[in-house]
Amino acid sequence: MKLVSVVVPCYNEEEVLPMFYDEITKVTDSMKKEHSELEFEFLFINDGSKDRTLEIFRQLADKDKRVRYISFSRNFGKESGMYAGLKNARGDYVVVMDADLQHPPAFLPQMYNFVKDGEFDCATTRRVSRTGESKVRSFFARMFYKIVNKMSQTEIVDGAQDFRFMTRQMVDAILEMSEYNRFSKGIFSWVGFRVKYMPYENVERPAGTTSWSFWGLFKYAIEGVMAFSTAPLAFAIIFAIICAVISVPLFLVALIGAIFCWQVTTAVTAISGVIFLVGALILFCIGIVGMYLGKTYMEVKNRPIYLTGETDESYRGRKASGESK
Ligand code: UDP
Ligand code: MG
Repeated sequence: MKLVSVVVPCYNEEEVLPMFYDEITKVTDSMKKEHSELEFEFLFINDGSKDRTLEIFRQLADKDKRVRYISFSRNFGKESGMYAGLKNARGDYVVVMDADLQHPPAFLPQMYNFVKDGEFDCATTRRVSRTGESKVRSFFARMFYKIVNKMSQTEIVDGAQDFRFMTRQMVDAILEMSEYNRFSKGIFSWVGFRVKYMPYENVERPAGTTSWSFWGLFKYAIEGVMAFSTAPLAFAIIFAIICAVISVPLFLVALIGAIFCWQVTTAVTAISGVIFLVGALILFCIGIVGMYLGKTYMEVKNRPIYLTGETDESYRGRKASGESK
């Protein structure tokens, strides 16, 4: 028997969850018909949703014993959700996918075919188009991949997604990276292994809304750069060299100007401009150092990546003891 754990991080997904459950069980049932060795478990993560997501989990757990769930004590972010899922999954294979059907369950049989014979350790989809996304957003996304790949040795594949069918070996490798600042696009790539990228066209959410704002994505992009590259720390050195090169002719001009008594006011304006520029560059560099220091501070504190409020086990136990009374 081979157990496949399907990990699904959910944040305010009451609208699509029932649809998702129907779709995924349809696909897993047909997979089971074809491959009799397969068993499935569904591990839902409630990332501090403010809607009825947890209630739906309970209903699903009531009617399907393959359904397990972990409900966080508050919103910890999708990265924490995925970590909790991977950590608690019991499967020989683990699938990570979104609840919003943007990661079509119909891919699973194909993905399984890639990993089952040990040819690949991971099968994942790769977006080849960005339909349904604004032009500005696509532009910035492309820029991000260009920049991050220039700055970091870990390649972050453009369009790669968190929709993955992985072997236990790869999951264990990912779990060994227990860092607090988790950027899974980088983590998946950092661990290596043989990955099969399957091209796919972007699909839009059938219901609910994305929880990403533009600002949120921007911060995520910065996280990504900082988690896998220390190149920005070298900016200070580059700026220092540039400033040094510029300062020499400026100094000469000022010196000659002083000797031949050119208009003093223009010189003052020029000098104050330069002081502002250099001041700004210095502050910018200190800011970068500060951000890395902040990340280091959070890592050093070694806080838990997530906290559990309720699980299917606690719920089932509570129910059983209620019924036996
Ligand atoms: N998600 C989560 N915690 C969050 C935000 C999102 O677990 O704080 C989940 C969400 O429920 C969904 C997946 O992460 O299953 C992807 O989220 P979304 O569809 O909002 O992102 P997008 O598809 O636009 O990247
Ligand atoms: Mg989505």
